[in-house]
Amino acid sequence: MPLPSPLQKIDHPLFDHHKLTVMIKRDDLIHPTISGNKWRKLKYNLEHAKVQGKKGIISFGGAYSNHIHALAFACHQLNLPCIGIIRGECHYANNFTLRWAQHWQMQLTYVDRMTYRHRADPNYLTLLQAQYPDYLILPEGGSNALAIPGVSEIIDELNKQTTFDTLLTPVGSGGTLAGLISGDNNLHQLLGIAVLKQGKGKETDLDSVDIKPNDYLINQVSVLLPKAAQEYDNWQVLPDFHRGGYAKFSEEDSQRVVAFNQDTGLNFEPVYSGKMLLALVDLIKQGYFPQHHRIVLLHTGGLQGLGGLSERKRINAQQWQVPPDAPKV
Ligand SMILES: *Cc1c(COP(=O)(O)O)cnc(C)c1O
Repeated sequence: MPLPSPLQKIDHPLFDHHKLTVMIKRDDLIHPTISGNKWRKLKYNLEHAKVQGKKGIISFGGAYSNHIHALAFACHQLNLPCIGIIRGECHYANNFTLRWAQHWQMQLTYVDRMTYRHRADPNYLTLLQAQYPDYLILPEGGSNALAIPGVSEIIDELNKQTTFDTLLTPVGSGGTLAGLISGDNNLHQLLGIAVLKQGKGKETDLDSVDIKPNDYLINQVSVLLPKAAQEYDNWQVLPDFHRGGYAKFSEEDSQRVVAFNQDTGLNFEPVYSGKMLLALVDLIKQGYFPQHHRIVLLHTGGLQGLGGLSERKRINAQQWQVPPDAPKV
């Protein structure tokens, strides 16, 4: 789909009842395979890799990672070799996400949790780079400095498509929120919905930046975009809508998302965009937004994740638009 991605109004009695306008930025439609925000984050990284004549790309992810799935596809399209360093054991190779990654010729390496923990350590990365001198190393989730201009283009598109007061996004590593903050220039309220339980009081190496203490994701955003902490006060990460932790959700949560999908014809999944949706509904019911407020939800994609959830029987495949499996080898 050519950019800009579409912006659509969502009709729902709850929104009418509270006199709110709710719209959705359909980044899930940017590409049938590459998840919305992962496409935005990869855009300038892949361009950089090409311009610099890199021989390939290395990155990190969990066994069901949207980033790994998107990167494998993108590199395949560009004829660029790529290596995925996967947290977990090699029996994961047989899961939905990694079957596709292998179908697109990503080379997979499995590391235990202890090793995976070093994925952002400078010493570890120096060693890895020495092993693969001509490869571009991308962090987990693709969240780095070059991800930010790609994501910030969402705001440029939105400013041409509508006027709005508040933009909601799910937050995993913080790269997407950092990009939105950078593009927005303090014009709108930006609400990040944390989809994971945050480790409190994690260390940060950005002592010089004025960061609010004890908030892991706020620190992550500030590391990626120091200006976010220094110059902008229009953003927050709401920590209480993770529903038990990363990729955790109850059957009731799942059924609420299914019902909303059926009512609206949209396609939220329960790990990221669904948590944002449930947060929105809960906030509206709490009276968080004033009447006539105009709200945009960013649909960040991630629909490939439904494949792994369905395979593990975490969701009922009949109720969701589960994407097709990779062809058998
Ligand atoms: C990765 C991902 C996110 C989180 O984005 P971050 O930039 O890591 O905060 C949100 N939604 C989907 C669908 C994702 O795949």
